[in-house]
Amino acid sequence: MAKRIYIETYGCQMNEHDSEQILRLLERSDYLETKDAQQADLILINTCSVREKPEQKVYSALGRFKKLKEKKGTIIGVAGCVAQQEGWRLLERVPYLDLVVGTHAIPSLPQLLEKVLTLGEKVCETDFDPEGRYLDPFLPERPLSSVKSYVTIMQGCNHFCSYCIVPYVRGKEKSRPSQEIVEEVKCLAQKGAKEICLLGQNVNAYGKGMKEGIDFPELLSKLNEIEGIERIRFTTSHPKDLSEKLIQAYGSLKKLCEHIHLPFQSGSNRILERMNRGYHRETYLEKVHRLREVCPSIAITADVMVGFPGEEEKDFEETLDLMIKIRFDDLFSFKYSPRKGTTAAGWSDQVEEQVKQQRLSILQNIQKEITLQKNQALVGYLEEVLVEGHSKQNREDVTGRTRTNKAVNFKGDDHLIGCLVLTKITRAYAHSLYGECITTWKKKDPLRGKPDPDELGLLEGIPS
Ligand code: SF4
Repeated sequence: MAKRIYIETYGCQMNEHDSEQILRLLERSDYLETKDAQQADLILINTCSVREKPEQKVYSALGRFKKLKEKKGTIIGVAGCVAQQEGWRLLERVPYLDLVVGTHAIPSLPQLLEKVLTLGEKVCETDFDPEGRYLDPFLPERPLSSVKSYVTIMQGCNHFCSYCIVPYVRGKEKSRPSQEIVEEVKCLAQKGAKEICLLGQNVNAYGKGMKEGIDFPELLSKLNEIEGIERIRFTTSHPKDLSEKLIQAYGSLKKLCEHIHLPFQSGSNRILERMNRGYHRETYLEKVHRLREVCPSIAITADVMVGFPGEEEKDFEETLDLMIKIRFDDLFSFKYSPRKGTTAAGWSDQVEEQVKQQRLSILQNIQKEITLQKNQALVGYLEEVLVEGHSKQNREDVTGRTRTNKAVNFKGDDHLIGCLVLTKITRAYAHSLYGECITTWKKKDPLRGKPDPDELGLLEGIPS
């Protein structure tokens, strides 16, 4: 009988993708996913060190599963960044934990699990793998449950921003050969993927240091040719590695969606230098200006941090000034919090918690207004939406995203899932849009910008 795995994932899309890879890998050892931890033979917590309080989260999750271990002898493991960083310390602190799987050790998971099961040993594997086997994909054997699929094209980072743990827990940048990526995307297209999102901690550095002599825009061009794939996205990009060639790709590659997530972190040059970001606010503004010149409809989102050590009021004002100048479509904003093992964590000029909170509230209120205004500006316009599934709020609605990555809900049923649909936006909210279905695209490869009514086709049963 198949065994059951329950997996709990924290953090970024890369972690979500790693969890998907773990499920595909363990499927081959006869493990099927369960959404109910009570039913599981194996519980894995896949962790992230980048976002807030990662270790506390892991220990509290482990606390929740202690009873299951006592009652049923469920195997319990931790994977991801916290596993990489803490290693044996986790096993020492949590006596009922069986398994610690570092970021490069996922391909060895079946063997590690076997050791736990047959020898009853506790196992910890956190060595870095210079061969890059951790980048090999586990391809889906069945049709995909989602129209959207993630593809890791590189891992690691060489930048060493002074607040970030990634280079320590994911290792140096390593890119996958382009042919392997092309084959994976073709396979995903055959299994039903319409949209792919290319992943990497520093995704636009793809190709650096490879013998193959390929760069990120060239990889995008190859993927743009793959039949069945309608949309291409990528995350996360670093402003320093955003080349003019990549900017030009937004003007020439039809499947590349008009959206970029480009973290700026601070609007103050003094703070950017302390962060070791490798660019200045002027360069960032210039790159956004070029993106908008080449692709006027592009949506720009970013990450920003307040309360970095030494941040003074005037630095914060420069951050506000930059975000008001750019008018981002959305911002992911955070209070700086020290990460053990990073340079900035040891600095003495930490900003008081109360000041961080005040700055975050000011920034978020301004951005909320900008996002709402940007969404309201779309009311009355037509938007192409790739329908992903039913809305969580209302089963009579389906939900999907525009090419600019904005969520749109509208009335519709199952047969729309996986379709590219033309919607008219009727209402705008802070985090989503509401629309009505006009039609699906007759052509698989819609024109960019304003749709031509002659190119639209009606789908049976859908109001025109
Ligand atoms: S670019 Fe900086 S923030 Fe991004 S992963 Fe690398 S070190 Fe971390």
